[in-house]
Amino acid sequence: MSEVAFDPQSVNCSRCGSGDRLNFVIMPYDDEGPGRVLVYCYRCRRSGHSERIDVSIPLPLVTAELMAACYLHGLTQSDPDTATRIVFGDDPAASETLELIQATKVKP
Ligand SMILES: [Zn+2]
Repeated sequence: MSEVAFDPQSVNCSRCGSGDRLNFVIMPYDDEGPGRVLVYCYRCRRSGHSERIDVSIPLPLVTAELMAACYLHGLTQSDPDTATRIVFGDDPAASETLELIQATKVKP
């Protein structure tokens, strides 16, 4: 069971809890400034909130490097501990990603 590299069972849509075609998304809090890291299913990406989605990447394509880059380039200021758990769930990639974010994070 722990041999599975990526376990989608432990990751669900941040809005409705569905596991259908999940994407890593960044939602701006307002029109300016960095957004918040969330995971959205197919239906929620097409709901009334979808026009606010700034970044949307299929979850299987999201790597530790990609997520760290979002922090490095100021796309998000979400709490990295919470964000990595939202995106990777119980997967070991969560702690791996957290370490990378902390290592590459540039202080303002
Ligand atoms: Zn959803």
